[in-house]
Amino acid sequence: MSSMEEYDIIVAGGGVAGSVAARFAAKSGFKTLLLEKFKTPRNKPCSGIQFQYFEKLIGEKIPREKLCKNELFKVQIITPKGKVLKGKMKMLNLWRSTFDSWLNSLAEDAGADFRDKALLIGFNEDKSENKIIVKVLAEGKHTEVKARYLIGADGMLSRVRRKLRQQDFDRKASGAAINYYFVGEANLDPNTLYMFYKREFCPLMFAWVYLKDDKWVIGTVANENPLECAERFFNYVSGKYGLRGEIVKREGFSSTLKSTVFLGEGRVLLVGDAAGLVDLYRGVGMDNAALSGRLAVKAITNAEEGLEAAKIYENLMKKVIKKKEANEKKLMKRHSSNNELEKSLTPLNMLKGGLRMLVANQINKILPPEKLIFLPP
Ligand SMILES: Cc1cc2nc3c(=O)[nH]c(=O)nc-3n(C[C@H](O)[C@H](O)[C@H](O)COP(=O)(O)OP(=O)(O)OC[C@H]3O[C@@H](n4cnc5c(N)ncnc54)[C@H](O)[C@@H]3O)c2cc1C
Repeated sequence: MSSMEEYDIIVAGGGVAGSVAARFAAKSGFKTLLLEKFKTPRNKPCSGIQFQYFEKLIGEKIPREKLCKNELFKVQIITPKGKVLKGKMKMLNLWRSTFDSWLNSLAEDAGADFRDKALLIGFNEDKSENKIIVKVLAEGKHTEVKARYLIGADGMLSRVRRKLRQQDFDRKASGAAINYYFVGEANLDPNTLYMFYKREFCPLMFAWVYLKDDKWVIGTVANENPLECAERFFNYVSGKYGLRGEIVKREGFSSTLKSTVFLGEGRVLLVGDAAGLVDLYRGVGMDNAALSGRLAVKAITNAEEGLEAAKIYENLMKKVIKKKEANEKKLMKRHSSNNELEKSLTPLNMLKGGLRMLVANQINKILPPEKLIFLPP
């Protein structure tokens, strides 16, 4: 008889996707293990902004003390020519260290075993038993743990995805997301999220400025020369809004993962960034991460009735994938030149977009989590 520990589901990665998956797995009665490679609370390069429906997705209201002290409820869009379009939209503003650690604890409260400083280093399928053997390195020791399913929630550097599809990774990272954290005075509003659409600042999405507690976050994402874009943008913001103080931290994140979506196969399912679900057109990834975590568990639950989990999961994720692919096309068109960007950001377009957001927000109040309309619609 083997003395190997055994679970129904092992989740690798204690970020948003993994914590939500582990929580819902435990709630559904599965014996669940959640592995996180870092000691928690751990830092995660992320701007930590989400729409209010995000609370529905994680299945819990976020306690006030887990959010930043300053609330964000206004938005300013700045076009390439410098036109400023203003709107109102309440956003969640959080530090990922605090927030993810709280999500880890929700998974534990639901009954999942949670281990931090526990790195998944590999896995193999035991076909005779229909089990996955996961190799874990924790506290300098190698161990093996068995499960019926493995959920890879290990982010853009995913070892789980690399093992399944090495070809989805390029040799070199094609770009990076960069945040500067600035402490000091600024002629900026602490309750506004500023989004700058200009290719020189951000050729891919929008560059952003907003306050997190006592720190102004000034960041961008670029597929080429990200350091130059970040520096150029910081200098612009510094001059335009009279920054007086110092940069206390510069943080970057890059990955070699191609932007293709892959949801896993057989008994191994991929969720969140590991599956390639970040949506640059909408400028967010945490909502897709949480939803995919929930749907992966739903797929495993339904697979208990005889169907293959990966196939069920693919079916459940159809709408999400369709939307991400459509948004990628819109993104390419919009960012092909500053002229295209300017055209897409006319006051009329913004008004129409704002109205769609308002309507979607109202409808979201009554929709169940899995049917929510993700914003911007
Ligand atoms: C600079 C930046 C700004 C962003 N801003 C926003 C934003 O404002 N709003 C938004 O919605 N999205 C934002 N995103 C995207 C968002 O961060 C991701 O989409 C989201 O974090 C995905 O969640 P995840 O759980 O899939 O992955 P992650 O959050 O990356 O979590 C993966 C976890 O797995 C752990 N891990 C990795 N490998 C292993 C292993 N082998 N074994 C065990 N554990 C492992 C990691 O330590 C990590 O905790 C931003 C991203 C960047 C880079």
